[in-house]
Amino acid sequence: MNKILISLVFSIFSSCNLTPKASGLDLDKPKLVVSIVVDQMRFDNLDKYKESYSNNGFNRLIREGFNLKNNHFNYVPTVTGPGHSSISTGSTPKTHGIVGNNWFNKKTQKDVYCTTDLNYENLGGNAYSAKMSPNNLLVNTLGDLNRIENDMNSKTISIAIKDRGSILMGGRKANAAYWFYGKDKGEWVSSKYYMEELPEWVDNFNNSDIVSTYIREWNTLYDINSYKESRSDDNNFEKSFKGDPSVTFPYDLNKLKHLNDGYDMLKETPFGNNLTTDFAIKAISNEKLGKDQFTDVLTISYSSTDYIGHNFGVDAKETQDAYLRLDLEIERLLYFLDSYVGENEYTLFLTADHGASKIPAYLNSIGIKSQNIEQGTVKNILKDVLFKSYGSNQLISKVMNSQVYLNNEIINSLNISFNSIEKTIINTLNQLEYIDKVYTSEDIINGNFDSGYDLLIQNGYNVLRSGDIIFKLKENVISYGNKGTTHGSGYTYDTHVPLIFFGKKIVQGESNVKTKITDIAPTIAKLLGLKQMSDSTGEVLSFVIKD
Ligand SMILES: [Zn+2]
Repeated sequence: MNKILISLVFSIFSSCNLTPKASGLDLDKPKLVVSIVVDQMRFDNLDKYKESYSNNGFNRLIREGFNLKNNHFNYVPTVTGPGHSSISTGSTPKTHGIVGNNWFNKKTQKDVYCTTDLNYENLGGNAYSAKMSPNNLLVNTLGDLNRIENDMNSKTISIAIKDRGSILMGGRKANAAYWFYGKDKGEWVSSKYYMEELPEWVDNFNNSDIVSTYIREWNTLYDINSYKESRSDDNNFEKSFKGDPSVTFPYDLNKLKHLNDGYDMLKETPFGNNLTTDFAIKAISNEKLGKDQFTDVLTISYSSTDYIGHNFGVDAKETQDAYLRLDLEIERLLYFLDSYVGENEYTLFLTADHGASKIPAYLNSIGIKSQNIEQGTVKNILKDVLFKSYGSNQLISKVMNSQVYLNNEIINSLNISFNSIEKTIINTLNQLEYIDKVYTSEDIINGNFDSGYDLLIQNGYNVLRSGDIIFKLKENVISYGNKGTTHGSGYTYDTHVPLIFFGKKIVQGESNVKTKITDIAPTIAKLLGLKQMSDSTGEVLSFVIKD
């Protein structure tokens, strides 16, 4: 807004004895902050398909915004729950406590899913639907801080196909988080943590025919021969849908959905992302986001890219198609924000919750040594060794997130020395050819690391929730089945993700300076003039903010 207009508005306020400050109106603040997280988007997805992207989606963000080309996760494990929590809070699992999608509760000896909370009934779904809340998140999100500082007059709304991609972005003080329930229903759901019943507009959306229109054929958006950035469609590396052993286009959802969990199949196609934009646009208009003087926060996480990436891998025609289609969803969302909130009245950032490794079988086929370790392999090896040495197969409670949780109760009751078990485990792990390094929890807690993989492990380690022994897999080794791929490591393929700031108060430009995922929240907090985020370990990227 130019100076003349500002002074005009100021004089209008003065003439009615109301200053902008007293009214809560700050002309310099965006009316809405939009956070876009693309689940499993590697940095190279931005460049690789650049020529095929429209001018007004990813390319518009790059052209008009600030593109940070060397942005990384600064902890392990690089998975969805911790990823979203670190973006929203500006801290790492060590502080925000979301140490995995799942972890093991050492006190209760039970598995924990990051957003399960049996204290709150589900809204929508059915009687068996998961009960959810953000209560495992130990610190405030940007949306929380924005609401608190604005005396709860601001709104925070979160949307994602995945529950954790929604709940952990919004935070503990969000007005609502919505996620998708598939099966025989295909509807957006929530939790009584946020509200007593779903708003009418959500019911209306769920009762409309929109979801079922996506049960159709998935073919490539453009001629498949133009998809030059991906490998041949027919190959032995990809995971097929149930009921269709081929891994080639087209896929008929009408035929396949009965064998693939009904509407849940949408998650594994680009249509899950379309449905997310549809719902986000309805949320913006029905919740009137960005329409009053208090800055609102909307978080959108596009989950389908992750499902597709797991099934088909980084270099697949299916993955390329998912990104070309997502590009048009970004374009559609930007158009809507421009018209509803106003061009340059909102600030937006786009990033990802982690990257992904290429499929090991594919890497091997091109001469790069790679390996997939089937789930349970490490635990079974350790159990065998411990049984032979100590006569018990109950000494380990869990192996997850490359960590071993020991069963202290059993160890104490059998009167076995904890140190001796720890040594046996470390020796065994060190002999496995796919393991690079092994640490005890003391190594990690007391270590003085200022860079490298050791620091990534330390940043991801939470004393209450993490395991007793931690191991680092070698590069290009993943813990997964023999088709498809995954993520979770501290290697560049998992840590390097896009980060683009765009819109109000954002400088146009790009940089190769190394930034961290934890820098996002404190940067937006600064842009909004909020007090600094007390639990954040990130830094304000002041060079992206206009004075
Ligand atoms: Zn994933």
